Amino acid sequence: MSEAQVSVAQPIVRPLIEPRRLFIGGQWLEARSGQRREVLDPSTGKVITSVADAGIEDLDAAVLAARKAFDEGDWARMSGRERARILLRVAEVMRRRTEELVATESVDVGKPVTFSRIVDVATVIETYEYYAAQAQLKEGAYREVPGGARAYICREPLGVIGAITPFNFPLILSNNKLAPALAAGNTIVHKPASDTPLSALLMAEIFAEAGIPAGVVNVITGPGARIGDAMARHPGIDKIAFTGSTDIGREVARVAGECIKPTTLELGGKSGHIIFEDADVERAVGAAIQGFIFNTGQFCMAGTRLLVARPLHDAVVGALVGALPHIPLGDPFDPATVVGPMVSAKQRATSEDYCRIALEEGATLAVGGQRIEKEGGFYFPPTVVTHVTNQSRLVQEEIFGPVLTVQAFDTEEEAIALANSTVFGLAAGLHTRDISRVHRVSARLKAGIVWVNGWAILDPSVPFGGYKQSGFGREYGPEALHYYTQVKSTVIAP
Ligand code: NAD
Repeated sequence: MSEAQVSVAQPIVRPLIEPRRLFIGGQWLEARSGQRREVLDPSTGKVITSVADAGIEDLDAAVLAARKAFDEGDWARMSGRERARILLRVAEVMRRRTEELVATESVDVGKPVTFSRIVDVATVIETYEYYAAQAQLKEGAYREVPGGARAYICREPLGVIGAITPFNFPLILSNNKLAPALAAGNTIVHKPASDTPLSALLMAEIFAEAGIPAGVVNVITGPGARIGDAMARHPGIDKIAFTGSTDIGREVARVAGECIKPTTLELGGKSGHIIFEDADVERAVGAAIQGFIFNTGQFCMAGTRLLVARPLHDAVVGALVGALPHIPLGDPFDPATVVGPMVSAKQRATSEDYCRIALEEGATLAVGGQRIEKEGGFYFPPTVVTHVTNQSRLVQEEIFGPVLTVQAFDTEEEAIALANSTVFGLAAGLHTRDISRVHRVSARLKAGIVWVNGWAILDPSVPFGGYKQSGFGREYGPEALHYYTQVKSTVIAP
């Protein structure tokens, strides 16, 4: 969680959101086809508002605007310090408009307002502050070449970035791409997820208010199969920064690969969370709960495979079964709510399907597993499944809902093997009091981030990203800037 935390008990009202248009070249435009699509409130299933449904001609216009802003505008050419000032203004405007951002993100995603405020909005403000600082640190090198030539090596922006993002943390995941891409001097065409496009459109207003020049950030809303796919193919886009499922990421990489377009892929996960026999069990159970219920399990780094030293197994399952039914679940606009609805009927149906599969596979539903009917919302409770085999679909496939499997292990070697036994490698974690074990096990876990005695400790300064089919590239940290720049060597003859 973030330093910029504010009171968790502030009341907040559901916002009324005007129908939104596309943001292209600094202007708000209807889709040329005139088509619109509805956006639903996951806590009621009712329509909140509508957004323009972009077509290929709208994408072309957005790419043209971003291209012009990159090739002819000031953004790529201004000093890092000037860009930093504007990025800091983005953070300032966000801070001023926090309540609007919180309400928009919560009504769109069904995210409890408490978390929208202290996690989502606060983190994105800090991300802009962090990359404002990074924008001023020009990295480079000087080398002497035998024969007397001298070379200097610097990084230049890539050009127009196509940013495609998923539904679950719209504000954070969009701006994980936009902040470093902007800091490096790129321009952007951003397509948020169709289910949750509202905060990206609100951010477009904030960018304009903060003084980001017209055309530098363009936001278009439309279906992934049409707009996302066309972005990956588009000759005017220089790089695709994609976050989403492994299946779609594979398709994006294939299409972008045909035009030799660099991509970064932040994909799915099925993270193993190990509790060793010497762990602080109470703390570990707390982290295990947080690790899979956060954002109603719609969290790429969710610790959805709990691996427990056999002597602790029954006590840990007992603690989970005892605690989970008491976690406040319900209206995202109630500041006491911890678990909101799932984002859509489709997402909830996927969790339900996997609970059916669990029973077919002979597993035991220890707690949860049945939808909760409430005000027409897409509610599904935190669910724990035991007696699973490691080969089962429940253990191997990403569910993207609040469904945790629990497996016992006998040795450290077995815990590591189980943790590494899926095609994914986004995150992993271990609970132990033995520092030698921390080093030993962390070095062998095939995951882009490893948490010790906690879960989901994230910060804009600490990179994360996937091993294996969880993707490639990193977000956060100075490392992310490498994925939005390219290396230029200038060699001066003697
Ligand atoms: P998704 O793959 O269905 O969609 C992601 C984005 O891709 C959306 O904007 C969608 O419209 C677009 N899209 C769909 N088809 C496309 C195509 N053919 N070409 C280009 N773009 C296309 O993912 P989702 O359901 O929105 O999000 C959940 C997934 O995202 C999970 O697998 C989760 O693990 C992953 N995720 C990963 C991270 C990470 O940092 N690694 C973070 C969050 C979510």
